[in-house]
Amino acid sequence: STWWSNVQQGPPDAILGVTEAFKRDKNPNKINLGVGAYRDDNGKPYVLPSVIEAENQLRNKYLDKEYAPISGISDFCNSAISLALSNESPIIKDKCYASIQSISGTGALRIGAEFLQRYAPLKTIWVPIPTWGNHNQIFKFSGLEVKTYRYYDPKTCGLDFAGMVEDLSSAPSGSVILLHACAHNPTGVDPKPEQWKELSALFKNKNLFPFFDMAYQGFASGNVDRDASAVRSFLSDGHQIALAQSFAKNMGLYGERIGLFTLTTLDKDEADRIMSQLKIIIRGMYSNPPINGARIVSEILSQPKLNNQWLVEVKGMADRIISIRNQLKNLLAKEGSTQNWEHITNQIGMFCYTGLSKDQVKSLIEEHSVYLTNDGRISMAGVTTKNVGYLASAIHKVTS
Ligand code: PMP
Repeated sequence: STWWSNVQQGPPDAILGVTEAFKRDKNPNKINLGVGAYRDDNGKPYVLPSVIEAENQLRNKYLDKEYAPISGISDFCNSAISLALSNESPIIKDKCYASIQSISGTGALRIGAEFLQRYAPLKTIWVPIPTWGNHNQIFKFSGLEVKTYRYYDPKTCGLDFAGMVEDLSSAPSGSVILLHACAHNPTGVDPKPEQWKELSALFKNKNLFPFFDMAYQGFASGNVDRDASAVRSFLSDGHQIALAQSFAKNMGLYGERIGLFTLTTLDKDEADRIMSQLKIIIRGMYSNPPINGARIVSEILSQPKLNNQWLVEVKGMADRIISIRNQLKNLLAKEGSTQNWEHITNQIGMFCYTGLSKDQVKSLIEEHSVYLTNDGRISMAGVTTKNVGYLASAIHKVTS
């Protein structure tokens, strides 16, 4: 035996496995709707022109490659938290927060989980059913216990608000609750503004702590303020929150791995103490974060002209997805489908939770070369004006 003969083969990643199967397929009409990355109407990855402009400007500055501080590039951290909370936020004016740059949204969740595992009164986090698959691993790897609350109702392809409220009401005082700030992954189903208000009151009454995962600000509705409204309404109700931000989707900076983790605090003194502990956590995990993505985001958010250009581009991505949802729904009706497909346009963000059964998903893949995860989730970003007709016809065939 060797040192590692005890290591067993692990299961492949559910989503990356879909792409592997897609690549092997020789059907010229094949479609990959597994991966959660934006594609343009030609099915190609999209580098935002505002990002290219920021990179050109940065190149001309010939900046050095010194280490960033442990907490990241401060201009980036300041502009990123302002994007989430708005420039007028009293929390920012009064310095009642601790923010650190993170390795995209995943890294923000990981740092947050590590902090909670050390300092939260209960070492348990509650996540919705279903949730982004990686949430479970991230929290478990940090030593938190993961519990679940009801969220999605398969009967309506919408929110099970009563179930959610009932489960959260039964969580012990002091529990941490993970909330998707907008464009819930994988369902595309979000609470309505008045439901967020009710949840905020419930969190107050039951002494629950909200940890917002905001991976899609601007990408969901096309408006960065509207997509942050759940976070902002909790804050205006006086909650302290944890917040994970990612610039993967809304700036198309997937591989740059740029995000932010924030805890809002009672006062500046508490913020300073928390900041010192966040730095200790980061130092022991990876010392300090990469600089390139932070510089790009910082340029875009700090220059009014570039910022406005980016707002138009992020709205362009959201609008393309909203428009293709409409086309898919209309084409299904045209195919003669008598099923209710309203949820295709009611759901928002990158994904549509189709409600297709495991067998229907299997037929879509095997008979039509349409690749998706077996929970029936399709990435709307992979649907284009060229393949939406084929997709509608394939979905109709497996559901009729
Ligand atoms: N949270 C959710 C809900 C997500 O969908 C994603 C991206 N798939 C992330 C966090 C983080 O992604 P990243 O680490 O690439 O920013």
